[in-house]
Amino acid sequence: MSRLVVVSNRVADPRKAAAGGLAVAVKESLEQTGGLWFGWSGNIHDTESGQGTHGEVRLQTVGNIKLATCDLTQEDYAGYYLGYANDVLWPVFHYRLDLANFDIRFTATYRRVNRQFASRLMPLLRADDLIWVHDYHLIPLAAELRAMGCTNRIGFFLHIPMPPPLIMAAIPEHEWLMRSLFAYDLVGFQSPADVAHFTSYVESEAGASPLPDNRLLAFNRSVRVGAFPIGIDVDGFSDLATAQDGIEMFNRMREEYSRRRLLLGVDRLDYSKGLPQRVNAFRELLALYPENRNSATLIQIASPSREDVSAYSILRSQMDSLCGAINGEYGELDWMPVRYIHRNVARKRLPGLYRASRVALVTPLRDGMNLVAKEFIAAQDPTDPGVLVLSRFAGAAEQLKDALLVNPYDTQGTAHSIQRALTMPLDERIRRHKTLMSQIRQFDVRWWSSSFLDALAQTATTDMAS
Ligand code: UDP
Repeated sequence: MSRLVVVSNRVADPRKAAAGGLAVAVKESLEQTGGLWFGWSGNIHDTESGQGTHGEVRLQTVGNIKLATCDLTQEDYAGYYLGYANDVLWPVFHYRLDLANFDIRFTATYRRVNRQFASRLMPLLRADDLIWVHDYHLIPLAAELRAMGCTNRIGFFLHIPMPPPLIMAAIPEHEWLMRSLFAYDLVGFQSPADVAHFTSYVESEAGASPLPDNRLLAFNRSVRVGAFPIGIDVDGFSDLATAQDGIEMFNRMREEYSRRRLLLGVDRLDYSKGLPQRVNAFRELLALYPENRNSATLIQIASPSREDVSAYSILRSQMDSLCGAINGEYGELDWMPVRYIHRNVARKRLPGLYRASRVALVTPLRDGMNLVAKEFIAAQDPTDPGVLVLSRFAGAAEQLKDALLVNPYDTQGTAHSIQRALTMPLDERIRRHKTLMSQIRQFDVRWWSSSFLDALAQTATTDMAS
C-alpha cells in the first residue's frame, strides 16, 4: 500500500479532540499507511524571507503519523493567507465579488509560498507516495511539484464551492489557476454542481473536451474530476451526544429553556454563512407568528474567524447591532429572543446543544458542504428529533433533501419554514430524520476519504496529451 501524504494549509495534531474537520477525516488513512501530513504550523515569524528559522521543516511523530510543519513570515501570512486565499479566493468562490480585493502583490506571494511549500515537501517524498492536497490555499502546489520533477500521483480536493465560469473569470489570473488544476491527476469537488461549474469553465474558457472515465482534456493535459461530498464520523458524533459532557449540556439546556423552544445556529462568523439574513428571518418569524414571542429562543454561536480581514470586522458590528435591535424590540424581562455568542464552543459540548434544540438553522448564502447540518442530524434523539432548516445554497442540500430547504435571501419564506419546523408533527420529524440519518451514514467521512483515495489510486498518472 502506498504511503499517504496529506498537504493542507494548516496541520492539526490528530490527537487533540478539538482538531475536528480535516484531522478527523484524514487521520485513519494516515494511520493505516504510516502517512505524512505537511503544511503550515500556524506560527508567524517577523523575519524576512531567507532569514531566521521560518524555512525549516519541523518533523514530529504522533503514533505512526509524521507531521511536517513550517512557519510563515509576516509577509507570507499577509499576502498568501490573508491576502490571496482569504481576500480573493474565499470571497470569489463564495460568489462575493463585491468583497474581493484583487491585488497583484497577493498573487505573487501566493505563488511564492506555494513554490516554497513544494520545495520543502519534495525532499520528504518517496517514489510511490500518494499525495492528497487540500483546498484553495494550495491550488498551484502540484504544478510547482511537477516543475521540480515530481511524478507521484497527486489528488486535489476543493472544500469550498466552485463558482460558475463568469464569476471565476473575475479573478484576473483565473486561467492560470484553472490550468494549475490540470497538474493534478484527480480533482475532487463537494457536489455535482461544483463539477458542472468546473466542466463548463474549462469547456468555455479552454475548449476542453470530455474523455472517458470522467476525464477532461484541456491545456494539453487531462485530469479526472468527480464529486466526493465530505461527511462526518456519524457514530463518533452520536456517541458524543450521549457521553457525559453531551448529557450534561443537554440537561442544562433543557432545564434552562424548559418553557421555551430552542432554535440553534452554529457557525464561524463568516459572511458566507448568512447570519444577518438568519437573524432577520427570526425577527420576521416573531412578527408573523406572535405565538413565538416569549417562547422561541435563537441561540446563535458565531465563533471568531479571520479577524484580520476587514469584511469580518464589519460583519461583527452588523451582528452586534442586529441582535441588540431584535432583543430591544421583542425582549421581555424574563426572555431574550436572541442569545448571540461570539466565542468558540468546544466540540465536545456541541452534540448536547444540538440534541436540546428543536430546530437548527443552517442557512448559508453559499457553502461548500456545511458539516454542522450533518452533526445536528447525528446528534438527535431518533424518537424525538429536531428539524433541520437548510439553505438550498449549502452543498449539503444536494444530499439532504429531507431537510426543510430554504432560500436564505427570502426572509419571509425562511420565516414560514422556521414556523413549519417548530410545529412539525412528531411522525413527520421521525420520518425525515430517519432518511437524513441514512444519507449521512451512507456518505460518512470514511466513505469520503476512501472513495477519493481509491479513485486517485486507480487514476493513471497525468500524461501530456499527444
Ligand atoms: N465548530 C466548533 N465550535 C464552534 C463552531 C463550530 O467546534 O463554536 C465546528 C463545527 O462543529 C463543525 C465545524 O466547526 O465541525 C464547522 O464546519 P462547517 O463545515 O459547518 O463550516 P466551516 O467553518 O468549515 O465553513
